[in-house]
Amino acid sequence: VSTGARATAAVRRRLAGRAGGRSGRGAILLYHRVAEVGTDPWRLAVAPERFAEQMAMLRSEFEPMPLAELVDAAQRRRLPPGAVAVTFDDGYRDNLTAALPVLERERVPATVFVATRYVGAGEPFWWDELTALLLRRMPLPDPLDVPLEDGMRRWPTKTRSQRRAAHDGLQFLLRHGDPERVEDVMTLLRAAAGLDGPADTRDASAMTIDELRALARSETIDIGAHTRTHTSVPALDTEIARDEVEGSAHDLELLLGRPPMSFSYPFGDHGPRGRKVVRKAGFEFAAGTSPGAVTWLTHPFELPRLWVEDAGPDWLRRRLTSVLSPAG
Ligand SMILES: [Zn+2]
Repeated sequence: VSTGARATAAVRRRLAGRAGGRSGRGAILLYHRVAEVGTDPWRLAVAPERFAEQMAMLRSEFEPMPLAELVDAAQRRRLPPGAVAVTFDDGYRDNLTAALPVLERERVPATVFVATRYVGAGEPFWWDELTALLLRRMPLPDPLDVPLEDGMRRWPTKTRSQRRAAHDGLQFLLRHGDPERVEDVMTLLRAAAGLDGPADTRDASAMTIDELRALARSETIDIGAHTRTHTSVPALDTEIARDEVEGSAHDLELLLGRPPMSFSYPFGDHGPRGRKVVRKAGFEFAAGTSPGAVTWLTHPFELPRLWVEDAGPDWLRRRLTSVLSPAG
């Protein structure tokens, strides 16, 4: 017996003992990108080697399972010790090119939640464009004036910290804006930078339709919805919220031939209004971004998730062990 196998048995026993057998706790991991990224202000990327190590560790020491199975087992109080589901948000191309081969090799199932308007549009996500425009020192007017509903906002753009402040301020405003406002502001920023199309975000890009279909063909993968334009659901007018949520389910059914079962809230924002819209759209469960364990008491439209850092398998093992133990 190798040290690894012995450690594995010990971890399993500990999880089983603490969780009192099969009534248990489960954990849902949240990833976005598997890529080597220089500027990553929102910590979205896990490097490919580390992702491979994390998945190998999950396979040997925990019980990776499809998200739908984990949710179902939790509700029936039949979660096996060490139950873990892997999820990805947004629909980045590297989910297909970098993550899928590892997931298939390690036989780790995953759910990928995609913002359907970005998939196939050939345009980068707006937050990656914001990073490219403001944090990679593209030429911009100084100061930068952005008209918003409540008047003009002005940001100086000379120094690195000024640009960082402009980036963070715009990110906050766009995150809470409706899809039309996001589009208007991005068009204005591109023009200010002298571009007539999207800024170069290097390899940060949504999947094309063909790529999404290729990903969906894998038995390891389930595709869920994440709105159309990646907008914060509870802040929207009812009509727009329905278009974003029901519309994303409709888009996926058209693209993949079957309706999605699951949804994940952009930015983790839900609240009673958000949950109601998602439930009425016919989804069976939905995930947020609050950390914590899944138990039989967990509301299926408020599934917690653990944001995975670009860190080694030891970090992930500690994180999971603390969440999966009743004291955690
Ligand atoms: Zn997202």
